[in-house]
Amino acid sequence: MRLSDLHTGQRGTIVEVRGHGGFRKRLVEMGFIRGTVVEVILDAPLKDPVKYRLFDYEVSLRRAEAELIEVKIDVEDIAAASSSHSPLDETCQARDGREGRPYEAGSTRNCDAATARPYEAGGAICLVGNPNCGKTSLFNNACGGHERVGNYAGVTVDAKVGHLTHAGHALTLVDLPGTYSLTAYSPEELYVRKYIVEQMPAVIVNVIDASNLERNLYLTTQLIDMDVPMVIALNMYDELQESPHSLDIDQLSRLLGIPIIPTVGRTGEGINELLDTVIATYEGHEPRSRHIHVNHGQLLEQCIERIDSLIRQNPEPHFNYSARLLAIKTLEGDKQIAEVVGRFPNAEAIRQAADECQKRVQKELNDNCENALTDAKYAFIDGALRECFVRRGTYTRRLTQAIDSIVTHPLLGYPIFLVLMYLMFFCTFHIGQYPMDWIDALVGWIGELVSTYMPDGPLKDLIVDGIIAGVGGVIVFLPNIMILYLFISWMEDSGYMARTAFIMDKIMHRMGLHGKSFIPMIMGFGCNIPAIMSTRTIEDRKSRLITMLILPLMSCSARLPVYIIIIAAFFPKHAATVMLALYVLGILLSVLMAKLLSRFVIKGESTPFVMELPPYRLPSTKSVVRHTWEKGRQYLQKMGTTI
Ligand code: GDP
Ligand code: MG
Repeated sequence: MRLSDLHTGQRGTIVEVRGHGGFRKRLVEMGFIRGTVVEVILDAPLKDPVKYRLFDYEVSLRRAEAELIEVKIDVEDIAAASSSHSPLDETCQARDGREGRPYEAGSTRNCDAATARPYEAGGAICLVGNPNCGKTSLFNNACGGHERVGNYAGVTVDAKVGHLTHAGHALTLVDLPGTYSLTAYSPEELYVRKYIVEQMPAVIVNVIDASNLERNLYLTTQLIDMDVPMVIALNMYDELQESPHSLDIDQLSRLLGIPIIPTVGRTGEGINELLDTVIATYEGHEPRSRHIHVNHGQLLEQCIERIDSLIRQNPEPHFNYSARLLAIKTLEGDKQIAEVVGRFPNAEAIRQAADECQKRVQKELNDNCENALTDAKYAFIDGALRECFVRRGTYTRRLTQAIDSIVTHPLLGYPIFLVLMYLMFFCTFHIGQYPMDWIDALVGWIGELVSTYMPDGPLKDLIVDGIIAGVGGVIVFLPNIMILYLFISWMEDSGYMARTAFIMDKIMHRMGLHGKSFIPMIMGFGCNIPAIMSTRTIEDRKSRLITMLILPLMSCSARLPVYIIIIAAFFPKHAATVMLALYVLGILLSVLMAKLLSRFVIKGESTPFVMELPPYRLPSTKSVVRHTWEKGRQYLQKMGTTI
């Protein structure tokens, strides 16, 4: 039966994921693999999308997408639904029964000369990890007061760079965008992979969400393939400690050949030890670091070995890719790597070997190489965790469940959302009016002061009417922007934003958009610039482009004075109605434009709505204030200088 056929509370074991390449890949990265148990948690108010739980985390999926996932309900499963039987146990059994792949913790191996990274003083330390695992929190806490955060302009994503000194070493820390894997599927994945290969970070800090080990370790296995010096920050350690599960960190560290340091990104706990370990790894005297190979099972390892040895016949360095990584990616059919490999003199031989291997895997494992490799990686993680992770029952986050049952309730969900939106705009515009008036008065006072002391002439006009009035016209909106972002940061940090995408997806999907498009549209009421910048969280290119194009129809706060002047001049009797109408008109026009654009102009298939619904967390004041200030600063810099 299909996943979409399951009712709330039911559980099924995944048998097969159908659908086209990109869709499958996305789901697989998120942990939707054969043998995994999925539980239906709840429906969005409009019955679509649906929230599921797999492993220990929650994701949303549209019904149409859930139809592509074939599941089976075991008799045992039905009986176990109310007991504390853990999903992982079932996963292990299912996978074992099916594959029976040998699990090996991997073997030590000499360093690959071609990929040995040069020791560079002050080389960058990169934070790599899944979205929402706490990278930015760690970054901010590590850089602390010395932080000099600058934005690297990327095509679709950006990396934040910060500097700090630790134990006498000047370190550069880079906060990379969150990614679930390193296949070249989404812009983030491509960006992170390119960054690691081209910038050659001195050490990679793989940030792992300790409350969601399976899925987070999937990225780790890919980083191991890349053969880069690595340290794991086991973040959200506080949540792991709170849960009934227990993890033998030393054992996991031994199995992976990577030092693991527990951290709490929010408070900065463990950061000093993390930095000590990073430096030790960097200098090559970290005893826990050794290079292992993720064992993909006999057949796949034979294939990898065969291509690996062909690649090694080439004398030149492989553009910082390890030969093993090139071999694995060639088997997976990665287009970008095919280009790199295509330049080797023996490219034809490699292609032929890959072809043969792919056919053999298809025949013997009844699956393509890419899926087989992913399965093998998850099996490796499964095996490793079985040796060091004790899972006691399912860790239910009662608070998250309680909040979700209210904010995604069929009747209450939308009213609560509207009230919150109203509160946000009320504070932005009404409470923001007071500081606006003060700033306005201050600017006026400075202008007058200057004009009384300066002789009339072009210079006075330039300073008073140009510079002072111009800059004043920009900073007067600062309070609006700051208040709006205070709300937005709080909603983002707490986890509520993901729920707004969840409850709005059905409506947005009708317009050819994505649930996530809604967040930038709300931000557009504050300022279109950061709103357009924030569209990068939308993975789907089509939705992203349409969202950017319709965003300017959202009335931003800088348009407010223009509206006020026009209303005062032409509609003094109906000021409030006309003002509301202008806002509504913008929204209606954006809906129309979105429909037209998605129907006639911007082509392309949309990607699945697999979105993680993180547990609710109380945002730390420090990070909310920092985020708000950062946005205010960006506004001043981007708007202020240009205007
Ligand atoms: P990023 O997407 O990886 O950059 O993650 P963020 O740094 O934005 O953090 C995501 C959320 O997790 C935020 O709400 C943080 O406050 C929270 N968070 C980060 N680190 C920890 C931690 O160690 N423990 C707990 N309980 N929450 C954390
Ligand atoms: Mg971040």
